[in-house]
Amino acid sequence: MDHSEIRDEVKKLCARFPGEYWRKLDAVRGYPTEFVTALTEAGYLGALIPEEFGGAGLPLSAAAAILETVHSSGCNGAACHAQMYIMGTILRHGSAAQKQLYLPRIASGAARLQAFGVTEPTSGTDTTSLRTTARREGDHYVVNGQKIWTSRAEHSDLMLLLARTTPRDQVARKTEGLSTFIVDMNAVLGNGLTIRPIRTMMNHNSCEVFFDNMKVPAENLVGAEGRGFRYILDGMNAERLLIAAESIGDAKWFTTRSTAYANERRVFNRPIGQNQGVQFPIARAYAQMRAAELMVREGLRKFDAGEACGEEANMAKMLAAEASWAAAEACVQTHGGFGFAEEYDVERKFREARLYQVAPISTNLVLSYIAEHVLGLPRSY
Ligand SMILES: Cc1cc2nc3c(=O)[nH]c(=O)nc-3n(C[C@H](O)[C@H](O)[C@H](O)COP(=O)(O)OP(=O)(O)OC[C@H]3O[C@@H](n4cnc5c(N)ncnc54)[C@H](O)[C@@H]3O)c2cc1C
Repeated sequence: MDHSEIRDEVKKLCARFPGEYWRKLDAVRGYPTEFVTALTEAGYLGALIPEEFGGAGLPLSAAAAILETVHSSGCNGAACHAQMYIMGTILRHGSAAQKQLYLPRIASGAARLQAFGVTEPTSGTDTTSLRTTARREGDHYVVNGQKIWTSRAEHSDLMLLLARTTPRDQVARKTEGLSTFIVDMNAVLGNGLTIRPIRTMMNHNSCEVFFDNMKVPAENLVGAEGRGFRYILDGMNAERLLIAAESIGDAKWFTTRSTAYANERRVFNRPIGQNQGVQFPIARAYAQMRAAELMVREGLRKFDAGEACGEEANMAKMLAAEASWAAAEACVQTHGGFGFAEEYDVERKFREARLYQVAPISTNLVLSYIAEHVLGLPRSY
């Protein structure tokens, strides 16, 4: 479960990508191609792909150890983490031919599967109200609509796309009639697919994507038509646990920085860390992180044992995102004015850490999951 060897190796790799590397990219909103290539070549991004398809065939806890270490080292897994969990949809629900075609290329880095097209501007969190349609015409589907916040779309070869194949008023349940497709983005870019980057608070390479009569071969449908929402849901526990692991890594990075600075910075002839007003927020955030870490580990244990882990995955994601934010806040405060100076990396990590209370699922939706699905309270939506 601890995967200490993997953690040591990832730490060494990350040491080649110090704060200066990320700062430069942040200034120009660049993509960390060298970092992603290094992770791919070392086999980390194919960690969850079975060995028969060229991956390492490791459990989710190993992938979590990789991403946590990326973040505790001051790097950012957001540039490439999606690949780890998106490919699970192909692995679990794809045909033998799709697995053979895509998984080895994803594992080797020949093709990047980094784009996940689910969120739309009008429907937001209410995924089943999405408006993008895919209409079958002979041996292909014709896709029309729009996605928003499709991260890494400009740096991905493949996109996993969720679109409606049967109108909502023709299905018994709103979760039916949605289908999942593998889109070969290079084949349709400029020919049905348009990508527009969105400038955000942090360097996340997120985009709007537009589909205008975009053709997708029928063989790129994953699993059965109309079952796509279920397939996407199947991957969400893995996604939440991996993002939670990243937040734990962020919290550790902030706390390491906070304690180092609080020990070293002298004001009024003593280290600022001697003041309990400085110590306590750091200590409190550390306690929050340790508690969240236990929940992440419990979720991973259950996931790897094949047990239901929706409750733990959701709680782990929420608690870890809140712990990393508490640690981020304490870190800025401990650094005083220097918390705002780019060269300390604190303000960059502070901006990056904030996302995880909103995406990939916002805290309110986690709370409503716990209230309704775990505690049996009435449905609110
Ligand atoms: C940087 C970034 C990267 C992203 N990457 C991707 C990606 O790669 N692929 C992808 O598909 N999506 C991506 N997303 C989208 C992300 O998953 C959504 O932003 C998130 O799910 C929230 O949806 P929304 O922005 O439409 O907010 P809305 O659904 O409009 O919600 C706004 C606020 O209202 C609250 N709210 C809404 N309904 C309820 C309710 N019933 N009860 C209580 N509160 C409610 C929400 O919690 C939220 O705080 C990304 C987002 C960001 C910002």
